[in-house]
Amino acid sequence: MSGSIIRKRFSQGAEIFHEGELGSCAYVIESGSVEISTRRGGSKVVLAQRGPNEIFGEMAIVDDKPRSATVTAVEDCELLVLSKAQLQQRIDNLDPVLKMVLGVILDRFRESLRSMHSETRSPTDVISAVDPQMQIKAYKAAINRIELEQSLRVAVEDHQLELFFQPLVGGRDGRLRGFEALSRWRHPERGLVSPAIFIEAAEESGLIFKLTEWALHSACAALKRIEKTPLFYDDFTISVNVSAHELSEPAFINIVTEAVQRTGVNPKNLTLEITESALMKNPDATLEVLEDLKSLGFSLSIDDFGTGYSSLSYLKRYPVHAIKIDRSFIVDLERDPRCVDIIRALVGLGHDLGLNVVCEGIETRTQYDKLLELGCDALQGYLIGKPMPLDDALARMCAPAVCEVC
Ligand code: C2E
Ligand code: CA
Ligand code: CA
Repeated sequence: MSGSIIRKRFSQGAEIFHEGELGSCAYVIESGSVEISTRRGGSKVVLAQRGPNEIFGEMAIVDDKPRSATVTAVEDCELLVLSKAQLQQRIDNLDPVLKMVLGVILDRFRESLRSMHSETRSPTDVISAVDPQMQIKAYKAAINRIELEQSLRVAVEDHQLELFFQPLVGGRDGRLRGFEALSRWRHPERGLVSPAIFIEAAEESGLIFKLTEWALHSACAALKRIEKTPLFYDDFTISVNVSAHELSEPAFINIVTEAVQRTGVNPKNLTLEITESALMKNPDATLEVLEDLKSLGFSLSIDDFGTGYSSLSYLKRYPVHAIKIDRSFIVDLERDPRCVDIIRALVGLGHDLGLNVVCEGIETRTQYDKLLELGCDALQGYLIGKPMPLDDALARMCAPAVCEVC
């Protein structure tokens, strides 16, 4: 399978790659050791040895130049393959200054290797500048990330991802307004994995596009089911979270449109939640995408509102339907009067702009009552219901008492 973890084994003495050839991957040593060498004046010069948790062959996947040395297995080796494709997206997205610095470092490293071909110099001069402890830590973090990404790729393909649904209720009537769809990973060994663990990896590896496509289709399929229940009404919505990366991807509009067309749901019953910080990454470009989405009939909500420093001039131009006040303000509501003032101001701002104001992260009855008093239009939080599988969410919300507090 294309997404599975790729490991390679080399027996003692085997050549892993040769100086001058084009490389398409780097290797992380899981066990065994290798020797890095070059030829000078017809004889072999050993440049370095690498052992477990160390990486080699990385230069060829950062730039397109030929391998600058030959690598041979000193002992039997088991190697984890890090492909160029796994790195490409990150390199493309790198801050340009960082990209330039990386290029300079690589060029200088290659130059120092070239000078070693002609001078008598200890090979360790080239590699001793790095603190070994720091290097091991950095390698371990990178290995964990590579493994996470590779198993996430498998998870997307093997249907290990699942949507959980968390209810939102109306402030005035306590009626179910809809659900927020939150991704969960049912890992065969680790059990249920939280999105806090895998969304960032999905974003950094580019897998987020597949994940969102899947989430949109699953949310639309859930909407089709809910349409047949008494819970459904004209303004019922399911919210799906969208990352900043997707807003800058031209195909995103097609992906969202395809999801609603294939399932036959009304776009107004699908809310796209975009964090305030994602909106502010590239506000002008984002504005255009939001306008397109709105004209197609989708509902739009600004998530984690109050944390992303949006400028008021953009806020008034964003064609959104709702703002969702960040949980951090609700957490401190009971002990910090300034949070009450901030929420009051945010609710006023939202209402003045003609937006619905949603509050999330409500865990106590006191918070719930205070938010109602402050004029919140919709509420979400563990007090009302935790995220749960669709069957449980439907069973719970169809029960006579909609939620514990109503
Ligand atoms: P979010 O969009 O801000 O979602 C709300 C998070 O707060 C969820 O965490 C939810 O379970 C949690 N939450 C809700 N009510 C309460 C409460 O009363 N108390 C506390 N302590 N927490 C509460 P979760 O499900 O772990 O998701 C974390 C974040 O991961 C989400 O934050 C969202 O940014 C991201 N995420 C989840 N699913 C997806 C997805 O399918 N796509 C994308 N792009 N991001 C996702
Ligand atoms: Ca959200
Ligand atoms: Ca949020």
